[in-house]
Amino acid sequence: MKKYLLFLAVLLIANVNGQRFCGTDQKMNEFFANNPNALAKKQDLRNYLTTKNTTAKNTQTVVTIPVVVHVLYKNAAQNISDAQIASQIAVLNADFRKLNSDYSSVVPDAFKPFAADMELVFCMATKKSDGSSTTGIERKSVATSFSFPNNYYQSSGLVAWDPTKYLNIWVGDMPNPYLGWAYLPDAAGYAFDGLAIGYNYFGTTGAAQYPYNGGRTATHEIGHYFGLLHPWGEDGSACGTADNDDGCADTPAISDAHYGGNVFPDNAYTCVPSANGAMFMNFMDYVTDTEMALFTNDQKTIKTNTMNGPRASLLNSNACSFLSVNNIEKVNSINLFPNPTTQYISIASPLAKINEVEIFNAEGRLVKKATINNETDKIDVRDFATGVYYVRTYNNKEFVKSMKFIKK
Ligand SMILES: [Zn+2]
Repeated sequence: MKKYLLFLAVLLIANVNGQRFCGTDQKMNEFFANNPNALAKKQDLRNYLTTKNTTAKNTQTVVTIPVVVHVLYKNAAQNISDAQIASQIAVLNADFRKLNSDYSSVVPDAFKPFAADMELVFCMATKKSDGSSTTGIERKSVATSFSFPNNYYQSSGLVAWDPTKYLNIWVGDMPNPYLGWAYLPDAAGYAFDGLAIGYNYFGTTGAAQYPYNGGRTATHEIGHYFGLLHPWGEDGSACGTADNDDGCADTPAISDAHYGGNVFPDNAYTCVPSANGAMFMNFMDYVTDTEMALFTNDQKTIKTNTMNGPRASLLNSNACSFLSVNNIEKVNSINLFPNPTTQYISIASPLAKINEVEIFNAEGRLVKKATINNETDKIDVRDFATGVYYVRTYNNKEFVKSMKFIKK
């Protein structure tokens, strides 16, 4: 009931004042309600994403993400130009490399030590899954009765390109209250996985409308895609509760969103008032496009774990250019997650092929054998006793790498 009332309250605010409202929490709630297995694994995955890992992982530092933009339009204005799409990609490439020109002026000096280069680059896909050439843009005219929020990924809209190889972005007619949403890595590989966004909140030119014509709605939402939460955690969570946590020590906990016009230092919603107050200019808060300008180091940790885990397939997508990697890089890229775990493990092997897994207990007895395809395959370990387990991975019976994990 509380969440429903909060939703209604925000709905009214969004309609009256045009304030930012992101649909990710709502869409993830629906996703978890429809996918009990994903819900059961939610906490293990969250623990994995927010833990700083020290073991060697993929050796690429700056990762290039292939993007496909699906434009679903009801009229000429919604059929946004290639230039508007390019303007959005340019914003992403500035914001995720800490190259945004407003960084110095918008981020207070006190917060600059926490700012991170997220080391992500976005490219329009040049190759489809079958290897044929593409501009990375596809367009479709839809009826005025078409419901973009419900059908963007259906055959009545435009179906996703392989979501383990591309970041799918659907642009269309997004009715109030949402500007857009993106699914968290829990939903990696699902048909709707990616970003859905209003044509008038996308890019910096053409149909983009003030105050959301800075391309920051997509920056914010793609932050979710890489595992970031809002600084207040889940919508409606009170200070001190488990849900009031984005897993980042360097984004001060707050009880509510900031909608813009805030002045540093702002302690209106901080759970623990401090000299610096809230980091309301973080990309994951709700201020307007000209008022947000940084990601933090702890947010980058989540991004890195996402790329080593649930979204590792993007690393070998090859949809923009062919990779050249040596065998050491291939083996280093193999990662087991989440660890520790209570429910399941997955193997991310973006640069090497793994199709068989053996799990041994601490006494060296084989306790499970499984065939896998990629990191979206989950190996159930719920009936394992607590303790340390050893995993051997194979490609066509040939040993590739061993790893260990802890079952809690
Ligand atoms: Zn959001």
